Amino acid sequence: MRASAYPLIDADVAAALVLEHTPVLGVEHVAVGDCGGRVLAEDLVAEAPLPAFPSSAVDGFAVRASDAGKTLRVVGESAAGRPFHGAIPPNSAARILTGGVLPEGADCVVMVEEVQLAGDAVTVPKALNAGANYHKVGDDLKPGDRILAAGVQLGAAEIGVAAATGRANLPVRRRPRVALMSTGDELVEVGKRPGPGQIPDSNRWALLAALREAGADVSVLGIAPDEAEALRRLVVAALLASDALVTSGGVSVGTHDLDKPLLESLGNVHVGRVKLKPGKPFTFATLDNHRVAFGLPGFPVSSLVTFEVFVRPALRKMQGFGQLHRPSLPVRLAYDAKPTADRTEYQRVTLHHEGRELVAETTGSQSSSRLMSLAGAHALVRVPAGDQSLKAGSMVEAMILALP
Ligand code: AMP
Ligand code: MG
Repeated sequence: MRASAYPLIDADVAAALVLEHTPVLGVEHVAVGDCGGRVLAEDLVAEAPLPAFPSSAVDGFAVRASDAGKTLRVVGESAAGRPFHGAIPPNSAARILTGGVLPEGADCVVMVEEVQLAGDAVTVPKALNAGANYHKVGDDLKPGDRILAAGVQLGAAEIGVAAATGRANLPVRRRPRVALMSTGDELVEVGKRPGPGQIPDSNRWALLAALREAGADVSVLGIAPDEAEALRRLVVAALLASDALVTSGGVSVGTHDLDKPLLESLGNVHVGRVKLKPGKPFTFATLDNHRVAFGLPGFPVSSLVTFEVFVRPALRKMQGFGQLHRPSLPVRLAYDAKPTADRTEYQRVTLHHEGRELVAETTGSQSSSRLMSLAGAHALVRVPAGDQSLKAGSMVEAMILALP
């Protein structure tokens, strides 16, 4: 063991450094059918009104409100996609179906339930309101209206409104291409029987799921040995086609921890140690051509907590998200949260509802080797460094991973 040459950086300072050095990726035009989950790169502005024509909201008769109480002659029909041609003459009506164009001359639609029909004569109620029962031109959008703002994630409704305005393609940010690698001579492929002293490479699958959830396009590199040259070859090859490198293991201060010297030889290490628990050895570097590298600690919980704190917001910045961070909500502690003297701690909790409040219960031992402290957790409670416990019953902010 040797002492680390890297200063211990405050957790918030480290998070700010990561974001500061993370680039926003470029724009590509993607078919609306493939835009789900992507982030809009530019404001979308309406060029034409929506609806583009006055369209009936009901099935009934298009009439003049001034003809209230009269018996009118039915002169034709306006169905969806098959308009009535021309204007309706005085003392007449046109049958109209939902989505049909309101014919010229008409100024309201009477519902079919409200009329009396005899052959081609229709008697309309005594009180009619001009403007009733049809959607006016531009009710939904007027030309120049902002449809969607840059930075929104495209979900079903956003894709729907873009398609309604006739957009076949949308400008979205490129998804980050991330190379994912596990390091360690003790690791074996999941599914293979571990030999003496070996363990399954579980981080790969946990991080793959986390990366995909965060929008990354991941190439899985597998397991790199604890050997400097082999590691260098794998990393250099992986970087050719990636925006970011995510490794787990090999960042603490042991003789087999090769990640920091390698990143240093390839670029600039901005964060080498953090006042964070779990996750003290977290490493962040920039490489040539705007690429970034995240060296996550090997302990499974440490790798996922540092992913949440540093990597996920960075991947969201790359994609142009307006909102980089998980939602934060006040929760009531059901336990005494004991702090660590010199490090910000993210304690894993489950949440349940009590009345209108969310109550946080610890997931048990917070050892960073204990993946069960994170499995099933709903939130991370941030416990500031110091000697002051956050007492049971107090309200604290929690980073929400999933609501119960
Ligand atoms: P390291 O950061 O390489 O010193 O690893 C710290 C601890 O995490 C050791 O007990 C490793 O065996 C374990 N570890 C490292 N990589 C992985 C992985 N990919 N999957 C599961 N455990 C790991
Ligand atoms: Mg290792």
